[in-house]
Amino acid sequence: MIYVTKSFMPPLSEYNKYVQRIFENAILTNQGPNVQELQTKLSEYLGVNNFHYLTNGTVALQLALSALDINDVEIITTPFSYVATTSSILWQRCKPVFVDIEPNNFTIDVNKIENAITPQTRAIMAVHVFGYACDVEKIEQIAKKHNLKVIYDGAHAFGSKYKGRSLLSYGDISTCSFHATKLFHTIEGGCCIVHDKTVSDKMELQKRFGHQGDNHYMLGINAKQSEFHAAMGLANFPYINQIIQERKHISDLYDSELQGCVLRPQQQSGLEYNYAYYPVVFKNEQELLDVFKALNENDIYPRRYFYPSLNKLPYVQGESCPISEDIALRIACLPLYVGLSDKDVCRIADIIKGVVE
Ligand SMILES: *Cc1c(COP(=O)(O)O)cnc(C)c1O
Repeated sequence: MIYVTKSFMPPLSEYNKYVQRIFENAILTNQGPNVQELQTKLSEYLGVNNFHYLTNGTVALQLALSALDINDVEIITTPFSYVATTSSILWQRCKPVFVDIEPNNFTIDVNKIENAITPQTRAIMAVHVFGYACDVEKIEQIAKKHNLKVIYDGAHAFGSKYKGRSLLSYGDISTCSFHATKLFHTIEGGCCIVHDKTVSDKMELQKRFGHQGDNHYMLGINAKQSEFHAAMGLANFPYINQIIQERKHISDLYDSELQGCVLRPQQQSGLEYNYAYYPVVFKNEQELLDVFKALNENDIYPRRYFYPSLNKLPYVQGESCPISEDIALRIACLPLYVGLSDKDVCRIADIIKGVVE
């Protein structure tokens, strides 16, 4: 069986080293030593300040909106993402306003943002989808002009750099997910990286019920992560560069094997890519379905990522986004993970070529 991804597993002995620390000091959660060490290491690796390690990437998005006081307003967002991007907006009682995407790299089309701004708009929530960079400069310019906050859902962006800086360092707040299926994982987990220290201090309180001791300052939630999750993160941390290198190797091999047979996104200049996913676009949905059938017969299971276009969710009244809707019908992510052999990559490519050509 080959699935679209497989969680990276560090050596058990290295995980146990951090678990042993938990058993020795009996601190299981509430910003214990593992969480603190992981926060320090990830902040340094990413070159950022005001880093909050949280329970998951969805709560990170909700907390980001809450820390920026974004409630009951319109948020400009992309329809081409995982459902959590849209659901976090709705869960915070805001209205997602969908702006169509760039056909080349599937990020929000910055030339269409200004048309969607109304007096109710307070923020832009964009996604560095598959680890490709949004046009962060243009988005910042639009946000300044219209006095909007910028939140990046950077769930795919860990390890990607733009102009020498981590992609997660852009915007008023960037979030990431460390879910088991992501490039760097802590089983479940996520983070917020906050530009402004005052907002970051507010998030520090909000993520643990809004109080410190007996002093209650504001409405909060529980978004703290446990020491066991941090232990997995600490065990995985030394392997980040190796993980990215191995994924690059597999992606390069797919590139050479599949050349001319499927459409591939175009990388922006200035982007140092993290190889988080290997998306391919087929001619039409039927071709995608034919390829899936052939792969499934060989026990290979790619994923339709992302499908459907989020403006088409049954519980939203989304604007029409023809490019996102079209891409969503014919895009898939191919298996990509540490441990996938060259032989299997070639076999997958051969099956696809057999159907497409
Ligand atoms: C995975 C993902 C999330 C949600 O992260 P969780 O940690 O699973 O809650 C949000 N946005 C995008 C784009 C994702 O891929």
